[in-house]
Amino acid sequence: EVRVRFAPSPTGFLHLGGLRTALYNYIYAKKYGGSFILRMEDTDQSRLVPGAAESIEDMLEWAGLPPDESPRGGGQYGPYLQSQRLSLYSQAADSLVQTGKAYHCFCSQQRLELLKREALRSGQTPRYDNRCRHLRPDQVEEKLGQKVPHVIRFRLESGVESFNDLVFGWNRHEVAQVEGDPVVMKADGFPTYHLANVVDDHLMKVSHVLRGSEWLISTSKHLLLYRALGWKPPVFGHLPLLLNRDGSKLSKRQGDIYIQSFQRSGALPEALLDITTHCGSGFNSNRVGRKMEELIAEFNPSKITTHSALLDLDKLPEFNKIHLQQRIDDAVQRDWLVRDLQGRIQDVYGTQVQDQDVLQPDYITRVLHLRKGHISSVSDLVSSEYSYLWVRPSFSDQQMAALSSETQHIATLVIRLMEGLKGGEELTVDQLSVQLKTLAKKTSNTKYRDVMKIIRLALSGLQQGPSVAEMMVSLGPSEITHRFNRVLQ
Ligand code: GLU
Repeated sequence: EVRVRFAPSPTGFLHLGGLRTALYNYIYAKKYGGSFILRMEDTDQSRLVPGAAESIEDMLEWAGLPPDESPRGGGQYGPYLQSQRLSLYSQAADSLVQTGKAYHCFCSQQRLELLKREALRSGQTPRYDNRCRHLRPDQVEEKLGQKVPHVIRFRLESGVESFNDLVFGWNRHEVAQVEGDPVVMKADGFPTYHLANVVDDHLMKVSHVLRGSEWLISTSKHLLLYRALGWKPPVFGHLPLLLNRDGSKLSKRQGDIYIQSFQRSGALPEALLDITTHCGSGFNSNRVGRKMEELIAEFNPSKITTHSALLDLDKLPEFNKIHLQQRIDDAVQRDWLVRDLQGRIQDVYGTQVQDQDVLQPDYITRVLHLRKGHISSVSDLVSSEYSYLWVRPSFSDQQMAALSSETQHIATLVIRLMEGLKGGEELTVDQLSVQLKTLAKKTSNTKYRDVMKIIRLALSGLQQGPSVAEMMVSLGPSEITHRFNRVLQ
């Protein structure tokens, strides 16, 4: 049975790199009929960010990657929060100590600092010198009795560890040659990442570990732990790093790569997922606009390459536009968009909205259909360019006083035209364009172009924007009448 997991540390909010790791795991689970697990690795208590764990789970739901088992949703192998599983890690650590595969280390921070400084001074990579390996049992007992602060270290066996990574192929590491014995239990009773990760992947019956390639070098250590505990390890697959287009690190410190900021700016989850699969690899085709079912169908793990994935965020609006079009055409997905836009209109315009009618789903749906293919994000629709859709334009007393009689004449004609349309069938942009041509003929002194300018200005306060006919179809006869009546007063 395929069981994969996304195991973020809630030391920050979900960013694009994390979303991509979650996506590959999700797709892997769905492709092979398995389960997708979310596990919070919150053992580094000093680096926890309040609210991050909840937000990560929210963002996965938003992105359309709901886990089958998770801290919130529970599951057969819970709890899914490492801080609630401490007894499991100490059991594992104790059993390692009992079998002589791990040992208590009483070295003080001072001594470790000193070791580090000496190593750096002589140009070597700092590593623990494994001194406490050699303590006699009675020495250990004595120190434990005296409650000397201690950690538990895993005794690294020397030898070559090799494993076949799903992506990177055969890997060979001589861990004990390079590293000192790693801490598995810290002095505060919390496990380190390495132990907790191995214990949980085992207890949660994880079959495949798909994670960022920054963990590739830790894998041999993990395999030694599996062996010491007498457990069968999962299959490992390391995903190439996600980098900016210029090859620089996709920094977590850049606010704009957080999923929440993308969400706020109107990016659609499916566009974000699509763009991350484009810069990565592992798919049979590269068509823009793929939905989840297509991503799952086209996923091909043997195509994941080892070179870094370069993300070109400048292309996001293009991806978003295509996915937005698809959402507008899909009745169920469109409801989601309508609700999203209702929220944005209220956030931006609040009490300024002309009346509650502009928040009606019918009105918003009409606007979405008319602007489909022109806008790249729903947030465009609440920018000043489109404020006329939600708020009546305001004119100064001077502007009103300066209205020519020709403008008044045009207003009368428009109102008359609208009278004929009220309550009737909804007009199309093409039909209305024809009607406007006829209307312009009735204005003796003004050219068609100028008539359009005047109508546009009265309706929106703007000099440019969508065609006048489209503006009119969006606003509808009663609102147009309302706006022109003001011109007449
Ligand atoms: N907690 C680790 C991280 O945040 C998980 C690594 C893994 O998937 O094993 O990246």
